[in-house]
Amino acid sequence: MKFDFKHKVALITGGASGIGLAVVSNYIDAGGQVVVADLNQQRLAELTEKYGTDTFLGVPTDVSNEAQVNHAVEAGVQKFGHLDNAFLVAGANKLGPLLDQSMADYDFVLNIDLRGVVMFIKAFGRQIRTQATPGTIVNIASINALVPEPLGSAYSIAKAGVQMATQSASLELAPFNIRTNAILPGLVNTPLTESMRENPEINAEMMKNIPFKRGADPSEIAQVALFLSDDASSYVNGASIVVDAGATSATYPDL
Ligand code: NAD
Repeated sequence: MKFDFKHKVALITGGASGIGLAVVSNYIDAGGQVVVADLNQQRLAELTEKYGTDTFLGVPTDVSNEAQVNHAVEAGVQKFGHLDNAFLVAGANKLGPLLDQSMADYDFVLNIDLRGVVMFIKAFGRQIRTQATPGTIVNIASINALVPEPLGSAYSIAKAGVQMATQSASLELAPFNIRTNAILPGLVNTPLTESMRENPEINAEMMKNIPFKRGADPSEIAQVALFLSDDASSYVNGASIVVDAGATSATYPDL
């Protein structure tokens, strides 16, 4: 599908790597400008060099820090004058057994994966409320919002929270012409999953449940995110789109 985001500005968290980077690249290819909020300052500098300052603004941001979240939105508006589409992609994970994992590890995951999304919904939503133009928000949750990741209770709880944050926002922000939707990806070939994919046993186990027998390319998630930000999806609000090659349907072993 060919999208046109000319004269549009996206706010993209986690845009320095993986799925977020694919959103950056697809959005710029479709004519848009981007504000990228990410922890990785070196990658932000490299991407500024690659795309140029007319198109790309990198704002070093820890999405779990409210002052930095608000600053990222303000910096984007100062640079480009307005914002149109938010893609809340930044995420992290720490695995551990529910009974023994420290609350410091829980807080780390929940603060980034859930609180970070909520704070950006608030900051972006307040900005769109001041504009005469509509907005969209796409949250990257996970199929682990539906089926728990083994030893990933903090992550799964956070992602289920993102799904509900999406639904809450879809009701409360609709009066301000903001549509809010979520994508629930299955396995995606990004640095986040590299160590799992490179472990032959874990990889074989993951492939058992994926009907296509491969992880997604990040751009296969980014294309759905752009669709949810385009007028082509004008009646879609509060939805969770599962993008997993059917993995969540694969509850029975292959016979
Ligand atoms: P990735 O590790 O390639 O990219 C994550 C990006 O988020 C990085 O650029 C990193 O610097 C940034 N980031 C991490 N913590 C941050 C923080 N505190 N503040 C600001 N930026 C921070 O990972 P990815 O696979 O592209 O994951 C992107 C999103 O997709 C995450 O929310 C992840 O949970 C979700 N997801 C990934 C998969 C998968 O299989 N890769 C599956 C389902 C959902």
